[in-house]
Amino acid sequence: MTSSGIHPSLTLWRAPGTGVVARIAEVLGARGVHAARAVVLVPYAQLMNVAREMWALDGQAGFVPRFETTRNWARSAGGFLPTGYDLAFDMARDLVMAQSLLSQAGLGAERLALAGRVVELALQLAPLAAAELPKERDAWARRATRAAEAGYESQWLDTERALVRIAIVWTATSSYATDVLLTEAVRSQVDALVVLDGFQADPLTRKLAALWGEHALHLPLVATQGPPGTAAIHEAADPEDEADQAAACVLRHLAEGRAPVALVATDRALTRRISAQLAAQGVAPHDETGWKLSTTRAAATLMSALRACAHDASSDQVLDWLKGSDAEAVAVQFLEARLRRDGQRDWLTFCAHVARSERPQDAALQSFCEAVEGRRALLMKARPLEEWLPALRKLLQADGRWDALSADLAGANVLSALWLDDDAAEIAGGRHTLAEFSAWVRDVLEAASFVPPTGGQAPRVVVLPLHQLLGRVFGSVVIPGCDDRRLPASPEPPGNWSTAQRAELGLPSRLSLETAQRAAWATALRNPFCELLWRRADATGEPVRPSPLVQALQLDGALAVGTDPRVAREVPLRPTQRPLPSGALLPLQSVSATVYEDLRRCPYRFFALRQLALRSADELDAEVDKRDFGNWLHAVLGHFHEALQAAPSGDPEARFDLMADAARAATRAFGLSQAEFLPFAAAWPAVRDGYLAWLAGHEADGMAFEEAEPWKEQALGALRLVGRLDRIDRTPEGQAFVIDYKTESAATTRERIKEPTEDTQLAFYAALVADDTVRAAYVNVGEKSSGTQTFEQTEVVDARDALVAGLIDDFTRIAEGAALPALGEGMVCEHCAARGLCRKDFWEMSA
Ligand code: SF4
Repeated sequence: MTSSGIHPSLTLWRAPGTGVVARIAEVLGARGVHAARAVVLVPYAQLMNVAREMWALDGQAGFVPRFETTRNWARSAGGFLPTGYDLAFDMARDLVMAQSLLSQAGLGAERLALAGRVVELALQLAPLAAAELPKERDAWARRATRAAEAGYESQWLDTERALVRIAIVWTATSSYATDVLLTEAVRSQVDALVVLDGFQADPLTRKLAALWGEHALHLPLVATQGPPGTAAIHEAADPEDEADQAAACVLRHLAEGRAPVALVATDRALTRRISAQLAAQGVAPHDETGWKLSTTRAAATLMSALRACAHDASSDQVLDWLKGSDAEAVAVQFLEARLRRDGQRDWLTFCAHVARSERPQDAALQSFCEAVEGRRALLMKARPLEEWLPALRKLLQADGRWDALSADLAGANVLSALWLDDDAAEIAGGRHTLAEFSAWVRDVLEAASFVPPTGGQAPRVVVLPLHQLLGRVFGSVVIPGCDDRRLPASPEPPGNWSTAQRAELGLPSRLSLETAQRAAWATALRNPFCELLWRRADATGEPVRPSPLVQALQLDGALAVGTDPRVAREVPLRPTQRPLPSGALLPLQSVSATVYEDLRRCPYRFFALRQLALRSADELDAEVDKRDFGNWLHAVLGHFHEALQAAPSGDPEARFDLMADAARAATRAFGLSQAEFLPFAAAWPAVRDGYLAWLAGHEADGMAFEEAEPWKEQALGALRLVGRLDRIDRTPEGQAFVIDYKTESAATTRERIKEPTEDTQLAFYAALVADDTVRAAYVNVGEKSSGTQTFEQTEVVDARDALVAGLIDDFTRIAEGAALPALGEGMVCEHCAARGLCRKDFWEMSA
C-alpha cells in the first residue's frame, strides 16, 4: 500500500470526488443521462469486471452503466458472421482467403508461401479500416495505398507492394463485427459514451468518440502522479535461476498475505518455467495471456499424426504417433522393441522388411504394420483443403484419439480452431499436399490461443502482460525478464512499415509505443510491492544487461536490492555408497561371452544388465556408425563364405562377384537405404580387397572354412555356455580354428591377445567348441593399407581352462550370496548403460 494505506488503483477508481467512479456518476448526473443509457468503454476486457466491482463498492445507487470493450459491445449489439471475403480473424479461414486473393492477383503459384504474410499485413491494417465508416473505406483504401506505396518504389519490392495492396483491398472491403457500433441505430440507444483512456489510443474508440461528439467524454485511467511503491531488484545468474527466484518471490508474497500476485509475462518460456514451479508448489496461476494452442499436448498429438503420415516418415515419427493410443499399447510396445532391435530408421523400409519375413512369429507384426499403413494412407494424397479436414477427422477417429481430444479443454479448442468439429465444407481451399496442409495446421495452431478457466475461484496468482496492470488491484507485482531483450524501453513496432508509412497510415509509431511502455512501467512501479528480476546471461551464456528502464531506476537510486526469496534448508549429508547387491536369487541359466565379460569387468553391471535384465532403448534415429559397419561386414563375410563353400572357386573374379552378391544381400537384410550405405561404400573396396588377399594367404596355409555364425551351447554344471561364433575353420591337422572378426584398429586387437587370461572372448569361444585342443584368433578386417591380419591367441587352451575354472568359481559364489560390487574403473564405465543405476558419479563426488 502507499503511504496513505490505499492501493493506487483503488484511489484511481474510488477517490471521493476525483475517482473514475465518482466522475462518471457526476457527468451522468450533470447531463441528466440515465445510467442504463450510458456506455463506458474500458481499454481491455478484464477491466469490465473490475469497473463493475468498483462501481458496486462505491455504493452508487440505481442503475449501473454498461462497462464494455468495443468488441464486447459489438457482440451484444448484434450478431455478426463474416461472409464472402470478410477478414474473419480466424487464421484457418483467413489463410484460405489470402490464398484465394493471391491467386486472383496472379500470384497463384506462390499462394501457399505468401498467404501467411498477407494475413499478417491484413491484421495490422484491420484496426484502421474498421475505424472507418463502411461507406468511407474506399477512400481510406486509396489513401492507404498511396501512403504504403511511397515506401516500395524499388522493383525489388514488387512482391511486397503487391501483398500490401491485397491486404489493403481485403481490409477495406471487409465488414467487421464492430461495424454495428458505427450505426445510427446504436447511437440512438446510447446517450453518453464515456471512454476510459488506457496507455494507447485505439482508432475505433477514437472514431466512436468523434461520432458521439459532445455526448462523449474521455476520462484518463492512467495516473500520471502518485507515490511509487516499494521496488526491489533481483539479479539472477541465468534463466533457470531467474525462474527459481521469480517463483520464490511469488510464493513469499502469498505467504505474507499479499495476494493476488500479478506475474508479468515478458517471455513465454520464462513464464512457463515459473508457472511450472508454482504448480509444483500447489499454486496454479491463472494465465490471462492465454496458451498458444501450438504449445498444447493436443496440438502435439495432432502434429505427430501429420508427421507420421508423410511418405518418408521415419520409424521414430510413426512410433511417436502410435504411442499416444492406449488401445494399441501392447502391439506398439512389441513394434518398438522390434524396431530398436533391428535399428530400422526408415518406416517404409521396415514395413517391407517385415512383409518379406516368413517367420510365423512375425505374422501379428505384419498385420499390425498393414493396419498402420492403412491409416497412414488416409492422409498421403494431395487434395483440396475441404477434403483434408474430413480425412484428418477420420484418421483421428480411426486411431482412437478423437474422443480424448474432444473431451480435453485444449483438445476441443484445437479441433475448433481447425474447423474439425464443424462442417468442413465451410472451409474451401485449393489443392494441398500433406506438407502444405501440415503447414496450414501449424500456422492456425500458432495463431490461436486459449485461456483456461479459473475454476470459479478468484485466482491468487495472475499471469498478465505489463499493460494489463492498468486499473487493477494487486497485492504485489513480480516482473521477471527485466533485461534489455525482454523489456526494451522502446519496443519494436510490429510489421516492416517505415516511420513515414506508419505516420501516413496512422499505425502506432515507435515513439507512441515507447510512451505507452514507459507509462505501463510507471503504473507497475506504483504498486505497493514490486519485484523486478533480470539475468546476467542467457541460456547460451551470452551476457545480458538490465533493461534501460531498470538502469534508469538504478541511476536514480530508486531501487532496493532484493533479498534472495529462496529459503535455505539444511540438508543432512548423505553420501552415496557404492551398491553391493546380492544376485543369489537371480540365477542365470545360460551365460554368453559378453555376459561373463560384464561380470569380470564390473559385478554390479552384470547384476543390473544381466540378472535384472535392465536395458536402455537404442536410439532409432542415430546415424549409421562404425558399429553398424561392423555388423554389416560380419553379415557380408558370412554370406560370402557360405556361397563360396557351396560353389568353391579359387578364381579371383568369381570370388569378387560372390563378395558383391554378399554385400547386396547384407544391405538388403539390414534395410539400409542407398544414402545410409554411402559411408560404407567409401570404405568397402579397400576392406574387400584386403580381405580377399588375406583369404588367399590363409587358405595357402591349409586353412579351410567350415561354418559361419554357428550357434554353440556347452553344459557346465548347472550352467549352459552359449554363443554365436563368427566362424570356425579347420587347420590342415583337422583342428578347429575359431575366428572372431574385428573392425577396430590393429593395435587394439593386438592388445587383446597380450594377456591370455585377461581376454574373455577367445577363451570363451574355445570353451564352446567341444574339441579338447583348439586354435583361436582374431581376424582384424581393416580399411588401412595393412589390410586384413590374423592375431592368434597361441595359449588359448590354457586360457580356456582357466576361464572355465574361474567361471564355475564365480557363479558358485554368486549363488552363495557373494556381493556384486560396482568396481567403477577404467573405460568400462565410459559407455556403461548401468551408470545411472550404480550412481558412480555420486559416490565419486562424495568420496
Ligand atoms: S558405470 Fe562403472 S561402476 Fe557403474 S555399473 Fe557401470 S561399469 Fe560398474
